[in-house]
This record gives sequence, C-alpha cells and structure tokens, in this order.
Amino acid sequence: MRSALGGPRVLLRRLREVMAEPVSAQARLDKIVMVIAANMVAEVCSFYVMRADNTLELFATEGLKREAVHLTTMKAGEGLVGLIAKQAEPLSLSNAQSHPSFSYRPETGEEIYQSFLGVPVLRSGNTLGVLVVQNRAHRVYMEEEVEALQTTAMVLAEIIASGELQALASQGNGIALRRAMVLPGQSLADGVGLGYAVLHEPRVVVSNLIADDPAVEQRRLDAAIAELRSSIDQLVDRGDVAHGGEHREVLETYRMFANDPGWTRRLREAVQTGLTAEAAVERVQSDNRARMLRQTDPYLRERLHDLDELANRLLHRLLGRDMIDGRVTLPENAILIARSMGPAALLDYDRSKLRGLVLEEGGPTSHIAIVARALGIPAVGTVENITGSVETGDAIIVDGGAGQVHVRPQSDVEEAFKEKARLRARRQEQYRKLRDVPSHTKDGVSVALHLNAGLLIDLPHMDETGAQGIGLFRTELQFMVSARMPTTNEQMALYRTVFDATRGRPVTFRTLDIGGDKILPYLRTAEEENPALGWRAIRIGLDRPGLLRAQLRAMLKAATGQHLRIMFPMVATVDEFDRAKALVKREMAHLERYGYTLPESIKLGVMVEVPSLLFEIDEIASRADFLSVGSNDLMQFLFAADRENPQMASRFDPLSPSCLRALQMVARAGQKAGIPVTLCGELASMPLEAMVLIGLGYRTLSMSPASIGPVKAMLLELNALAIEKHLNHLLTEANGVATLRPALEAFARDHGVPV
Ligand code: PEP
Ligand code: MG
Repeated sequence: MRSALGGPRVLLRRLREVMAEPVSAQARLDKIVMVIAANMVAEVCSFYVMRADNTLELFATEGLKREAVHLTTMKAGEGLVGLIAKQAEPLSLSNAQSHPSFSYRPETGEEIYQSFLGVPVLRSGNTLGVLVVQNRAHRVYMEEEVEALQTTAMVLAEIIASGELQALASQGNGIALRRAMVLPGQSLADGVGLGYAVLHEPRVVVSNLIADDPAVEQRRLDAAIAELRSSIDQLVDRGDVAHGGEHREVLETYRMFANDPGWTRRLREAVQTGLTAEAAVERVQSDNRARMLRQTDPYLRERLHDLDELANRLLHRLLGRDMIDGRVTLPENAILIARSMGPAALLDYDRSKLRGLVLEEGGPTSHIAIVARALGIPAVGTVENITGSVETGDAIIVDGGAGQVHVRPQSDVEEAFKEKARLRARRQEQYRKLRDVPSHTKDGVSVALHLNAGLLIDLPHMDETGAQGIGLFRTELQFMVSARMPTTNEQMALYRTVFDATRGRPVTFRTLDIGGDKILPYLRTAEEENPALGWRAIRIGLDRPGLLRAQLRAMLKAATGQHLRIMFPMVATVDEFDRAKALVKREMAHLERYGYTLPESIKLGVMVEVPSLLFEIDEIASRADFLSVGSNDLMQFLFAADRENPQMASRFDPLSPSCLRALQMVARAGQKAGIPVTLCGELASMPLEAMVLIGLGYRTLSMSPASIGPVKAMLLELNALAIEKHLNHLLTEANGVATLRPALEAFARDHGVPV
C-alpha cells in the first residue's frame, strides 16, 4: 500500500518553506497543491475556496486541467466537494464516480480519477474551503492520510484567514471568511449599536502552526495538559462559585474531558504529525466545532461546547496566559460577543465604550438582558455560533429591536443603520419632549411611570426620563459588581445617594434578591439542582438574618428623615412576610435604642412573583403596605418555563388568558385592600403590554429607562376605561385561546394607540 512520502512532518516542513517564499498568492497556492500531491503520492491535488456567495471556487490544482482554475465552481451541497463543505467532514472514496453526489465537470478532466479524498478547510468550525486529492487507481486512503490532509488544510485555512487570497476570486466575488452575514436572534435590549467585535472570552488564534522540533512540542503539550488538569481539580475543590460563576457540574465535565484518554491521544497524534502544540489543539478542536455545529441534541451540543471551552483553556495555558484573570480592556465602540455572560461580568466592562452585546444564549427576561437594558446597551441573544462567526475587530451592527446582528455589513447596510440610529435619536428627542407632560390617559386616569434601577449609573435617568420615582431598586446589583461583600456603611452610602438623586420622589428598595442566576462570587452556597427554585432571595434573608438585618439597618439609617419603602422578593407565604416584617421592627427598635432618627415613614411591601401567593392574596394584601408584581418570575413559575432558557422565551405569552387573569387577581386584591399595586417586571416596559396592564387596573408601572418615553406616548393616546371594558370582554370570551395578543393589537390599531 502506498503511503505519504516522508509523512506529514516532511509535508509540513515543505509547506513552511513555500510559505516563506516571496511569491504571489496564486504562485504560492500552485506550489502548495504540487507539494501536497507529491507528498501524498496523488495524481491530483485541488483546493477550493468558499466565496462570499456561498459558492466553492477552484483556486488551485495539480493534476486537473489548469484552465479550470477560477472557472469551476459549485454550490455548497453540490458534487462531492460541495458535500464535504456542507457536512464539514472528510470524505474518502475508492470509486468516486459511483457516489450519488458525484457531478461531472468536463472542464477539469477529472473523469479518469477513481479514488477521491477530500477534507473541509475549517476555522473556528466554519468551512472556508475544501482540499482534495485524487488517484487514478482504485485505492483506499488510510486514516493517517486523512489526518495528514486535515493538518494541511489547517495551513490553508490560515492562508485564507490572512486575507491573501481575497483578490483572487473570480468576477469580483469576495471569499467567505469576510462575508457579510445577517444572523437572527432574539431581542434582549432595544436600540441600534454600531461598532467592532470584542470577544468576551477571546479565542486564541494560532498562527504558529508548524513545529521546529516535535519533541519539544510534545513536552509542551504534556506539561500544559498536566497543568490544566490540576487547575481544574483545584477549581472543583474550591467549590461551585469561586470563578466566573461556573457551576460544579460544568467543572466536573471539564475534569472528565481533561482526563479523557481519547482526547489526549488525538492531541498527541496531531503533534506527532509536526504541528506545534497550539496548532494540535486547534486541529483537534476544529473537528469538534464542526461536529458541534451539526449537533441538534441540546445536551450533546452543550457537552461539545464544554470541550471547546476546555480546548480554549488549554491554548491559554500553552501561551502562558491565565484566562480567568485576563480581562479584556475595551476599545472605543465595542460590541461585546459572548457565548453566555452573567450580569456581573457585563457590569465589569466600561459602559462608555460599549455599543452593543451579542450572546449565543440568554432570553429576554434573563438577568443579563435586564442589566443590558438598564445600561441602555442594544443587545441580541440566542445568536447561533456568533463566537465562531466573528473575529476581534470585525464590524458589527446590533439591531436590538429586530433581534438581528449584521456581521461585516456592506457599506450601504451600514449607512442605512446609521440613518436608523439617527432616526432613533430623533425619536428619543421627541420622547424627551414628553418628559414633563403629565402621564394621564385620554380619559384622565393618572398612571405613574417609575424606573427600575440598581446602580449609580441609573440615577441620572430619573431626570432624563421624567420618571416619577424608582419603582424597583435592585439592591443586589451593588453586591454583584463588588469583589467582596459590601459593608453596611457602603450599602448605606449607596442608598443615601439614591435618596439624594430622587429628591423626594418615591423609591422602593428591594432587599437582596440573590441566588438563581445572581451569584455572589464571595458567598459560598451549596450545590443546587434547581437554583431558580432553590435557596434564594428572601429565603436566604430569613435563614441568614445577619445579612438581611445588616441591609435593613443600612436602609433605615440612610432614610433618616425620608419616606422609606422596602419590598421583599420571592415571598411564597404570608408567614415569610410576617417574619421579614418582624426583622424590620427589630432593627428599628435597635436603632431607636441607640438614638438614631428613624425615617419619616416606612412602608413594607411584597413582590408577587411566586404563584402560591395568588392563593393567599387577600391575606397578604391585608398585611402589606403595597404589592409589586415581578412578572418575570411570576411568568416563569406560572408556566414552569425557565426565564433564562431562550427556548422557552416565546413559548408562552404573558398576554394569554391565564396570565392576565393572575395579574387581574393581584390588581383587584390591592383595590379591595386599599393598597397600591405596582408592576415592575419587563412586561411594563412594552407599550402593548403596558396598555393591557392599565386595562387590568395597574396605576403604577416600573420599567427600564428607555421604555418610559414609548409607554408614555402610548398612554397619552389611551382611553383607560375603553381598554378595561374591552379586556374584560376578551377575558370572558376567551375560550381556550392561547393568547389575546392579536385582539389587543387590533384594539390598539383601531383606537390609534401607538404600541
Ligand atoms: C421580576 O421577577 O419580575 C422582577 C422584577 O425581579 P427580577 O427580574 O430582578 O427577578
Ligand atoms: Mg424576580
């Protein structure tokens, strides 16, 4: 049986020589295919490059007719070459012409070649081209030959990525790597952001591919794997939350993969072919990424993602960088790209330089989305393989409203979006003009529009938007952005600043709502199967009263001479509220004993976000000074649909009869008990939904700053009595419909209400 002449190491050495020659790009490619053909004892070696129009074009060949170069093309999926590109997998055939996908191209003269071996040219899981060798005789290519060709394909991927081939494509077609793309996703935060890609966890780009001394590379690889294993062991031993919010389960998976003999064997084999240790990791990972992109089973896909992450860590080790400590400093006009990200990580970045956020995960009510909205950063989530599709510095447009991301946009698209951004700014200007217009419906019903806040940067939004107060101050954000537990004095200082900024307008502080996805790196908590249903919010507060009492004390002290409003998150029973109230009383007594002046007034409220409260709603309303519906959690628990899971994001509609009846129940209980009821979840931020809430009887809505203008514009045109009547009618008639959205949209349209 024939085998490669001198093997892959000799081939790589020859390729390195060719790469160093000062010749034109075409001449280099011509030499490369010649070298490959000779080394692999093949009569043909051809290299196809994926163009921006999704067509594969023959860029170089040894053995086929030279006239076919830059003439022969095929679509992805067409012919054997197209099939390889589509499947992103090698294809080895001893009788190519009998394959159903074989397509005959007379200009190439390839009909005389029987055997065919083709591999995809991959980079970050994307197919950039196809590399083929062919032989006249029937032959079976050995596994080592397939691997040698894949290794060679990596070198070609680097050549494509260098941009050197850009001008060679026929008829002015660009090549795929720099192709403009529009990627769909889900809207997380409205707005248009133009800027340049910054990867939250930068991928290591390996450009040094060919080893000087394979034995040295082998030792480097072994050392890095050993270091990686021990660092993961340490992370696992340190527990769940120590670093970047990783969960134990993920770390355990890393540990399993890091110790997987199959993975290490493949890495070592790749080094033996003459690659540097880094290139070997990239080579093995490239196959994995391609598999990942084709994988439809979410569980397996997730595991492949874990393996990808592990490979990235290994690359960082090889380059002597510590990934966790390597925080990226943002350039101007940055569009942050991440697979997933916690709210604290986002808050770590310099807001003034951030123009947009794109995630592979993250649903619209996830906390990262809430923080993005609070920061006014246009954001799109669930964008498939965004981290593999862009490179640092690529031009990106985030269309938050449409939930789309434009990667490397053409200049006309860019111009159109600049115009859109200008229009938006003009619209914002119009909203600003509404700032001082009293927020009354057309029939004179006054609806207070409040702001959701949590950080100092939110406070100027009060005056900018004309919000009548802060309806939800998420106190946990201060804890999340801090590297250690904020002291009582630090908490008090923040609350004082909030009082100063509100200048007499009401502000409702919510006590710490941590747990679930809001992890404090410095607070050790036990492993939980279902953190959203676990030890969080008021549950932690009541079980660890020290923490809650310190916070209550900070609030009470900060509110000297002020009207203090406190509400408790995730209350599930009346008893929990009673106990929380008792803690407040105790702190008040304590402060009085030490001569502190108490606030002018203290109002204690309950967030209605756990459905059990719906069935004790009158009891809770009779004890509370006010209620505030947390529709994000209430929806999640009503429908048993994880708010962080993008697949659940549009599965259930809050405008469904069941949800609206639940919301109506709370509003009516408040009216009956004579206490105010607010809604502070994301529902209030959307004009159509806000219209419905007014119809259900809500008179205070608390929302993200960018929503105050659009919601006010809506209610100024609304007749509250008309929507109330219509809604009651719809709810009575709604016999099993999944959602009332179309009917409500029709109402808005018919009544000229801008939603
Ligand atoms: C909610 O659940 O609707 C809410 C306002 O609180 P958070 O989003 O912070 O959980
Ligand atoms: Mg909540």
